[in-house]
Amino acid sequence: MTEPIDLRSDTVTKPTPAMRRAMAEAEVGDDVLDGDPSVKRLESRVAEMLGKPSGLFFPTGTMANQAALWLQGEPGTEVYCHDDSHIVNWEIAGTAALAGLQVRLVRGGPVLEAEALHAAFRRPFSIHAPRASLVCAENTHNGAGGMVTPVERLRAIRETAAEAGLPVHLDGARLWNASVATGTSLADFAACASTVMVSFSKGLGAPVGACLVGDERPMRRAWEVRKRLGGGMRQSGILAAAALHGLDHHLGRMHEDHTRAKRLATELAKVPGVQVVPPDTNIVMIDLVAGQESSAVVERAKQLGVRCTSWNATRVRCVLHLDIDDAALTRATAALSEALRA
Ligand SMILES: *Cc1c(COP(=O)(O)O)cnc(C)c1O
Repeated sequence: MTEPIDLRSDTVTKPTPAMRRAMAEAEVGDDVLDGDPSVKRLESRVAEMLGKPSGLFFPTGTMANQAALWLQGEPGTEVYCHDDSHIVNWEIAGTAALAGLQVRLVRGGPVLEAEALHAAFRRPFSIHAPRASLVCAENTHNGAGGMVTPVERLRAIRETAAEAGLPVHLDGARLWNASVATGTSLADFAACASTVMVSFSKGLGAPVGACLVGDERPMRRAWEVRKRLGGGMRQSGILAAAALHGLDHHLGRMHEDHTRAKRLATELAKVPGVQVVPPDTNIVMIDLVAGQESSAVVERAKQLGVRCTSWNATRVRCVLHLDIDDAALTRATAALSEALRA
């Protein structure tokens, strides 16, 4: 049988031969001791792209998000998060375990909106109610199918948060995709938050890594917090080189993933008994509205040579990425149509 086509996530991409060469040839140093030149190059490049004074390289996006919560959230207070956000659902309650924060879920709508945030604020003031210290947004929003929050709506969130005296952290693991899809610059998005996390291991195709960039004040203690979380890395220039290679060679092709996602969505929407969320970016969410179980569809697709995931009991997720070309898309579309029909 031919190789399975893996649409489970954009994290499954394997480093290309050219990326591996860049890693092998990277100039390195001890980044915990006195700095690694490749890491420094990556941090300053990403900070500049996002229009922030400084950036710090992290082994994972999860650790960078948790560091941001730690840097800006005050233990024993609340952080406002959309109920379908990565920080709430996929970081195993690090908010509580590490940062000492209670999450106040903001519901209503597929992504965080200023109106819903405002409605979630506790009022009238009571000395007995928890105070809040932070708002978290996510762009693109994974749980909503890679949905983009346009910059005007993100600005409204920042303004609503600021009226309550709260900073905003932006989980921008896929902010690259949001920028490519809208033409809004990364810096314009990043200006809506005091800290932003961007990931290198999704659409950019690096094996691991993320950057936290931010305004001077929250970033002042970022190095210390990363070290405390166990995120100090030594010759990490090898990893930074992969991220730099991704920025040089893979950011410019990301629009292809969006085009292919739209093509996949259009074809799968023709299958009876399914509803497809029209994709803004590279994630296709397929809702099974005729009583099928997503796990059964995922298993049938696997038999037909395509890997995808059960997002929940009735929703299947497919993600387009660097390792999926037009030929793979054609094969995947046929197999998924068949798996969904059965
Ligand atoms: C993948 C992801 C993260 C975490 O990144 P890791 O590097 O896998 O820890 C955080 N937020 C969102 C929205 C993600 O998609």
